[in-house]
Amino acid sequence: MASEAPKKKVAIFGSTGSIGTQALDVIRENKDIFEVEVLTAHTNDEMLIAQSIEFSPNAVVIGDVSKYEKVKSALSGTDVKVFAGEKALEEVADFDSYDIMIAAIVGFAGLKPTLKAVEKGKVIALANKETLVVAGDIVMQKALEHRAPIIPVDSEHSAIFQCLVGESRNPIEKIILTASGGPFLGKKPNFLVNVKRDHALQHPNWSMGAKISIDSATLMNKGLEMIEAKWLFNLNPSQIEVVIHPQSVIHSMVQFEDGSIKAQMGLPDMKLPIQYALGFPKRLQNNFPRLDFRRYPNLSFEEPDYKTFRNLGLAIDALQAGGNKACVLNAANEIAVWAFLKNRIGFLDITAVVEKTMNAVKYIAKPNLQEYFDSDGEARNFAASLIKL
Ligand code: NAD
Ligand code: MG
Repeated sequence: MASEAPKKKVAIFGSTGSIGTQALDVIRENKDIFEVEVLTAHTNDEMLIAQSIEFSPNAVVIGDVSKYEKVKSALSGTDVKVFAGEKALEEVADFDSYDIMIAAIVGFAGLKPTLKAVEKGKVIALANKETLVVAGDIVMQKALEHRAPIIPVDSEHSAIFQCLVGESRNPIEKIILTASGGPFLGKKPNFLVNVKRDHALQHPNWSMGAKISIDSATLMNKGLEMIEAKWLFNLNPSQIEVVIHPQSVIHSMVQFEDGSIKAQMGLPDMKLPIQYALGFPKRLQNNFPRLDFRRYPNLSFEEPDYKTFRNLGLAIDALQAGGNKACVLNAANEIAVWAFLKNRIGFLDITAVVEKTMNAVKYIAKPNLQEYFDSDGEARNFAASLIKL
């Protein structure tokens, strides 16, 4: 019998990216449960137009205002409302008409629209980890006040979230975040000094957007995920451990006070955590390939190489320092990764830019939202001056 429940109306912020397009793949397979209410893209007008024609959202936003006329005229024969520019992201996030936001914009740019959705009490399927890295205390406090559930999409955090279902009375002893190690696992600085963007973009197990691919290669991604985990699961830094697990089939683990450990496993495919977040608390049937243990006779684990991949240590420093440190780390990293992708700096320079910026920007112990924005701006300017952009 067909389900009688009303369809969940989904707003995908960052619909043209790696997460956004995979979220649409999930929705395409579950049209009886979900419908698309909002789509947003930064510059990819062609893809936004194609997605709008296929999914008939109520509204779309194109970030790049110079592309507004093109999107508007391509959709003129439809009911889709077209908006443009950064401010429109927040205005559309403020709509009553959707139920769940997939926060899939990359970087600091995702913070404002996500905060708006939190203030509206929407369900947030959170892929944009930078939102919590920058202002996790404020975002989580507002989520509590406005009863906005935040359901992680990041695979490690989805794994931990899934391990915690049914465990609300049981304190966490620690969590163990697994890391693939990225394309340069086992390499040393004398190799890393020469790596180029195209090599760094080749992740062994996951196909992702450019920024997170570089973050995975430098291990900054795992550092950002430690900070993300602190806020999502209300943990102390000492409760968050990282282990390298190159096969990426254990997506992360929770250890409870009796020493028992729960792990969530599966093939590395982001559609699974996206679908889990969209369907929660229900698991939805799908035909994704299944994990066959006989094809993974050796699951291995090792300590991260903190000496070579210094970004991870810098992120742990920020995690321990609290205040605006993680916001500064994130801003400097965004600038440095962008410069690396443009071949302006070398791979190891990313760490140097982040470290110098963290030392230069004034520490604020308990920033308000404006102070987070100011710290972000100051860190970006300082990092850019190092790179001489
Ligand atoms: P992506 O680069 O593929 O896509 C980013 C999306 O954000 C695009 O739709 C783009 O149009 C939009 N965007 C970019 N800059 C913007 C701006 N300034 N303003 C508004 N929109 C902008 O990135 P992705 O890999 O899909 O990652 C998205 C987020 O999800 C990141 O925060 C990433 O860390 C997180 N995440 C991604 C994966 C993955 O497998 N790709 C896994 C876990 C977490
Ligand atoms: Mg992850």
